[in-house]
Amino acid sequence: MSATNYNAFETAQKQFDAVAEILELDGATRDLLRNPLREYHFSIPVTMDDGTVKVFRGFRVLHNDARGPGKGGIRFHPQETIDTVRALAMWMTWKCAVVDIPLGGGKGGVICDPHNLSAREQERLCRGWVRQVSKNVGPLADVPAPDVMTNAQHMLWMLDEFETLHGAKYPGFITGKPVGMGGSLGRTEATGYGVIFTVREALKEMGIRPEDTVAAVQGFGNVSQYAVQLYSQLGGKVTTVSCWDQADRKSYAFRKKEGIDLKELQGITDRFGGIERNKAMELGYEVLPGDAWIEQDVDILIPAALENEINAESVKRISDRVKIIAEGANGPTTPEADEVIRERGIFMIPDFLANAGGVTCSYFEQVQSNMNYYWEKDEVLGKLDSRMTAAFIAVSELSRKKKLYMRDAAYVIAIDRVVQACKNRGWV
Ligand code: NAD
Repeated sequence: MSATNYNAFETAQKQFDAVAEILELDGATRDLLRNPLREYHFSIPVTMDDGTVKVFRGFRVLHNDARGPGKGGIRFHPQETIDTVRALAMWMTWKCAVVDIPLGGGKGGVICDPHNLSAREQERLCRGWVRQVSKNVGPLADVPAPDVMTNAQHMLWMLDEFETLHGAKYPGFITGKPVGMGGSLGRTEATGYGVIFTVREALKEMGIRPEDTVAAVQGFGNVSQYAVQLYSQLGGKVTTVSCWDQADRKSYAFRKKEGIDLKELQGITDRFGGIERNKAMELGYEVLPGDAWIEQDVDILIPAALENEINAESVKRISDRVKIIAEGANGPTTPEADEVIRERGIFMIPDFLANAGGVTCSYFEQVQSNMNYYWEKDEVLGKLDSRMTAAFIAVSELSRKKKLYMRDAAYVIAIDRVVQACKNRGWV
């Protein structure tokens, strides 16, 4: 989103066009699916704390809802653009389809920097966003969630405004709510655990025991910490994690060849996933340059921090030992690096499959909220495992049968499901 010359929507359309060729889609279907079905652009006047009024620009894009109500987060970002929102909405359609949850793809945004807004101003902005689109979103139409720079508090303000306008309680209007206020148990763990459910299945197919594997992870935030937790429970050993150091304004990798101790590291990590370097050294960790995670002598690499981290340069440093890359982050691999990984025959678990545990659990939150009946954590995580495992097996089987790269196989399955839904409804 920060690069001014990078247009995410053009990238999303190119990816779609390539799969449309494989699926030999007709012109009308291509035209329908390479563009959003609906989009709303609106102005949100907000009374600021000093009494002046500032007008913010907001968006909601519904890419496709043939398979069910739209689903997707709302971002607050100063460089937000409609094309970014369009791309993210399209990717949500494919992500929901690949894990076969009955939802479509949506995304929203506001051009703003919440760092410069007081809590009250943010509340008015959230309520203003809902007032502009309250007739076009809702539990049966399009369900928002948190995303970059929005959180559970923003979701509650939005929910409250929606319920005030509609005169009743609709906890299924929005997800990402706190547990006890309509949120789901297991959401915190969902994305990281989901990554490892897919890694576990990949290892099973390869006939490798998790206990015999070693992994390196980029990042030490929500996705990374829960991925490390479940992978360790399965018997795997993580030797390296990395993080951004806010004080030094650079990243570091932390290595312990005999295996990191998750609890110990969590004890010296802040809420942004930053590890205290000096304390880590005292605990016997080697502190390496941030990009060292990628060159470790391991079987599994899990990028779980940022986009574009495995690129034409860094891909050359991936060890011959690496058998699996599981993309916890969104878009961590550039197309050039992806080509190299494909040629080297490394087993790729693509982002919109590997990290779909988050949206799958948001779907569970929505279901529970609509029923106003909430499940135990084990039930949530058990259902999550079934969904992720089934999705992984479907993609992997197609990949083998049609000799497709895993990313292409995942796209083929997702796009084909949406195409069939559009055709069954008689749209194209
Ligand atoms: P987070 O903010 O909790 O953690 C991010 C981690 O990355 C932190 O440890 C941070 O220090 C580290 N980091 C930042 N810059 C770095 C750098 N240059 N080098 C090394 N480490 C760096 O974020 P998260 O929720 O864990 O999300 C991580 C990725 O997963 C993002 O791409 C996000 O879009 C994606 N994702 C998250 C979820 C979810 O449910 N949290 C769902 C789907 C996808």
